[in-house]
Amino acid sequence: MAEPDNAADPAALAATVKRLAIDVGFDRAGIAAAAPLGREAFLRDWLAAGHAGQMAYLHRYSDKRNDPSKLLRNARSVICLARDCPRDGACDRPGELPDGYIARYARGTDYHLVLKQLAFLLLRRIRKDVGACEAMVAVDTKPLLEKELAARAGIGWIGKNTLLNHPAAGSHCLLAEIVTTLDLAPDAPMPDHCGRCRRCIDACPTRAIVAPGTLDAARCVSYLTIELRDAIPEDLRPAVGPRLYGCDRCQDVCPFNARPPASAAEPPPADLPDRLDPRAVLGWAEDDYTRAIAGTAAERATLAMWRRNAAVAVANANPTQREP
Ligand code: SF4
Ligand code: SF4
Repeated sequence: MAEPDNAADPAALAATVKRLAIDVGFDRAGIAAAAPLGREAFLRDWLAAGHAGQMAYLHRYSDKRNDPSKLLRNARSVICLARDCPRDGACDRPGELPDGYIARYARGTDYHLVLKQLAFLLLRRIRKDVGACEAMVAVDTKPLLEKELAARAGIGWIGKNTLLNHPAAGSHCLLAEIVTTLDLAPDAPMPDHCGRCRRCIDACPTRAIVAPGTLDAARCVSYLTIELRDAIPEDLRPAVGPRLYGCDRCQDVCPFNARPPASAAEPPPADLPDRLDPRAVLGWAEDDYTRAIAGTAAERATLAMWRRNAAVAVANANPTQREP
């Protein structure tokens, strides 16, 4: 293994790391400094406003969330990585949303497995070709502000819908990070491309984007169908529509998602399709749930939650069945 050479040109090392990232299968890579992000006040006010709903874990480790250098001793850099989701299958545009809709990111193979495999492969290549280093791989599993870091690393900007967006590739992507002791030259952040557009805000069925760049997650359909453990509040049920798992409306109306990125990832194997019949899900037994969901990213919702979502989707698909 090559010895670390932190005296080497950080710009040259960063260029090599980014080239290796594309070689192993990521679509974009950028470098952010492992340094405080300055988002303490925003995060504190956001949590105090109750926008995290029941996601208690977001109240923990706020020091680490705001400063990735606290996650790894002597951390110098964060390698931010994006992989595009395939754009085939059902979409969440007005008039095109099918019954039993499943959000794009959850379809196919569990993205945690796919991205972790790529990130560890990349880390092996970095240690071989760039130098030995301490490192920590994160795919949704560590207290990191991953979109904020990715924006700092110049691989997109955070749109008014609060998601990482890219002028050529749009926002349907998944993120991974490698926090490392390597001294890599940071990239410049990307400028905002939203301009005066506000399609995502106007199209949100539950009015969850309460200000440009601020999400009341407790109202978001993704939260209501994936994170909320209790019944979906009655007043929000109609807005959930016929969706079973997640929501893509604020992305599918975005002009930057109008055409698929040139480097779209391979379509995944059909582990989880783009929709399921809500009436069938309503009747699922434990075995049916295991067969359909085990090993996919949609395992985050329990069988009871899937049935709850199905009851709402069925009611919304056929208004005559709605509760009074
Ligand atoms: S995912 Fe759906 S509910 Fe959540 S902010 Fe976007 S459009 Fe609104
Ligand atoms: S819909 Fe418009 S405002 Fe929203 S993220 Fe896309 S470009 Fe920005």
